[in-house]
Amino acid sequence: MKDSPDFDSKIVTDHRRQWRDCRYVYPVISRRARGVSIGVNLNLDKRCNFACVYCQINRRLRRELFDVEIPQLAHELDLAIAVALSGELWNEDRFAATPPELRRINDIAFSGDGEPTSLPLFDEAVSAAAEALKRHGLIKRGVKIVIITNATNLQSPQVQRAFDVLDTSNGEFWMKLDAGSQEFFKRINRPSGGMTLDYICENILSVARQREVVIQTLFSRIDGNPPAPAEIDAYCDRISQLLAGGAKIKLVQLHTVARAPSESFVATIPNDQLDSIAAAIREKISTVPLEIYYGCDTPPQQK
Ligand code: SF4
Repeated sequence: MKDSPDFDSKIVTDHRRQWRDCRYVYPVISRRARGVSIGVNLNLDKRCNFACVYCQINRRLRRELFDVEIPQLAHELDLAIAVALSGELWNEDRFAATPPELRRINDIAFSGDGEPTSLPLFDEAVSAAAEALKRHGLIKRGVKIVIITNATNLQSPQVQRAFDVLDTSNGEFWMKLDAGSQEFFKRINRPSGGMTLDYICENILSVARQREVVIQTLFSRIDGNPPAPAEIDAYCDRISQLLAGGAKIKLVQLHTVARAPSESFVATIPNDQLDSIAAAIREKISTVPLEIYYGCDTPPQQK
């Protein structure tokens, strides 16, 4: 499936993480969600254990570390949900041009300026999201809690503690896999602490054996070049190994750069090249649906 050509690119690329006076919560119109995704940014300090070359976060603007205040998060979630449900959201300049078919809440998504699962209070934040959905009757309407993660912390106590709530509150993991070889992984994701791609895949497998997951992949041009065919092959091999190991992969999302990256040597892959990469993946991984997310012409301001 491809992006709807009807989407106004300015609407779907405006992912500013500041909304009203909120600290953690920011509604956006999401291409992936095809509706409102209520973002939760727990990483106000902009820390991440990856330093992906395509990341749009400027970590030179890192802020002080501070704890997540769960009551404040719960209050902001209630506000965002209420404003979207009442229709008040569409009166705001940023959302006024949202087409009618996208005026629906699809999910609460934990992503933000770093890796959300690294926060010790991650499970409490997930519980706050589940409670907010319940208060507004949205669990039974299928509104999800999406955890967008680089899959480095899935064995941590705070993630282990969150599984029960996620599994009973439409929880879904969207896990990053941008490489097939360790060398490319180090070059693109630039992990800290000697992290290996094997370890990431073990983590993905441990979660995906128990529940359906989404794999998110972003390929970009580095110094003008897309990933080599051998790297795409190695990436397909990783997916095949996950499937052979029992991973329930419901979808692969293939992205390229859609928002201005902090590294100047990184660029969007043109649509025709991304189509070729998608075709190569589909040829090798025929059992998993693949969605393509092209780059956007109008990237928002770099943070
Ligand atoms: S894992 Fe996400 S937040 Fe961290 S560097 Fe990569 S893209 Fe940025």
